[in-house]
Amino acid sequence: MTIADFYLTDIWNRTLDLIINNNEVDEFVINTFYRDSKLFSLNEAKAIILAPDFLHYTTMNTNILLINKCLSSIINHEIESEIILEKDYVAKINPTLEIKNTVQNHFLKNKLNPNYTFGNFIVGRSNAHSQVASLACANNPGSLYNPLFIYGNSGLGKTHLLNAIGNFVQTNYPNKKIGLISGLDFVDCVFKSIKNGQIDDFKREMYDLDLLLVDDIQFIAGKEKTHEIFFSVFNELVNNRKQICLTSDRIPSEIKGLEDRIISRFNSGLNVNIESPEYETSVNILKSKLANQTELRKNVDDDVLSFIATNFSQDVRALEGALNRLLFYSINFNSGDNITLKLAMDAFKGQVQENKNELTVNNIKKVVCDYYGLTKQQLNSKTRTKNIATARHIAMYLSRKYLDLPYLKIGDEFGKRDHSTVMNACEKVEKQIKQNSLYQKAIIEIENLIKN
Ligand code: ADP
Ligand code: MG
Repeated sequence: MTIADFYLTDIWNRTLDLIINNNEVDEFVINTFYRDSKLFSLNEAKAIILAPDFLHYTTMNTNILLINKCLSSIINHEIESEIILEKDYVAKINPTLEIKNTVQNHFLKNKLNPNYTFGNFIVGRSNAHSQVASLACANNPGSLYNPLFIYGNSGLGKTHLLNAIGNFVQTNYPNKKIGLISGLDFVDCVFKSIKNGQIDDFKREMYDLDLLLVDDIQFIAGKEKTHEIFFSVFNELVNNRKQICLTSDRIPSEIKGLEDRIISRFNSGLNVNIESPEYETSVNILKSKLANQTELRKNVDDDVLSFIATNFSQDVRALEGALNRLLFYSINFNSGDNITLKLAMDAFKGQVQENKNELTVNNIKKVVCDYYGLTKQQLNSKTRTKNIATARHIAMYLSRKYLDLPYLKIGDEFGKRDHSTVMNACEKVEKQIKQNSLYQKAIIEIENLIKN
């Protein structure tokens, strides 16, 4: 089952559950005459449902209004459904479609990367929100979340998801015009087209898009003229229900030099965060990358994957890099069929922290997380929920106390916060220790755990 199928099946099942809850149609009828049908496609205006036989076809058609109502409520916008007999669908829905969205653009020269798809994007807790939101936008361009704003540190899959949205729309909505551009190229295009007297042509090309994908939008910050052009493109597209998807290394309000009116537009859609992959996701990503290595005829031991996932999971690019280094090493320095942990240790000599007893920010984070029942992702996240923020402040304070690291470095380790945030956190903890005996007790317990 492809991810798109999975998505449609999920929507269909939830629609049927809602119909059952509505009590207008008997549950038995639903399970007998609806369940084996299939939500085949979904776009802004229409859903197509395939019925396996005539009985399904007629039973569902008698309740088409209820189906429309429940389906609309599940996907959050008005939709009409058409029920088609499965045997008729090939002729009706699969006419040979002319691919029109590959027209040569004058300004938008970036091509979608065909290797970045939803199919090869591994999903885990760290990126599930971003993946589901991207998939929802790709399925219903312009009608659900506009703009979709994906943010997170470098190497976590933002460009991958942006291209996956583009590739999905290209395949499933062949008539939609797609534009992919990086923030830097956007600035460059505005600059050059103003210089050449072509700014209206540039705007027209943008206005004509059905889907605009801007990667690393933070680079338009501080560029006044670009802001003006981007603002008008943004309004034109969103007002006409054309989809915009953006990526950035931070949330809109933290992009310094971005005009308030643009920040508020970015906040009017959906902002989703993508975080460092947790251990299981890292292992799954490594397995999937290995499976795609067709030339490699070696077995990689599980403890090798575990070793890489433990030491290089700060971002997916680092994971890929480590895997490539290992494969390179094994091809050149190992004639055996197995890649063992011993070989991996040789390949990464000097690259990973060898003295396991040495105290690191990671150890401190782990102790604090265990103490408060949190995950490292929560600690690094932007969440300001009280218990998470308290734990984060304590971990920062202890990193300062035991490792004597600069505030800037600690900020980097905790989701790229700036040095004043860390300084404030440390001061807050010191103050709490003096004022609150329960708090003081907690710190002593955590410190004992760290020392042990
Ligand atoms: P970003 O744009 O956030 O800096 P990229 O999208 O360029 O990161 O991702 C870096 C590399 O990691 C790419 O090769 C991408 O395919 C890969 N990658 C990131 N996340 C995943 C994932 N969840 N599953 C598979 N590959 C991933
Ligand atoms: Mg990127």
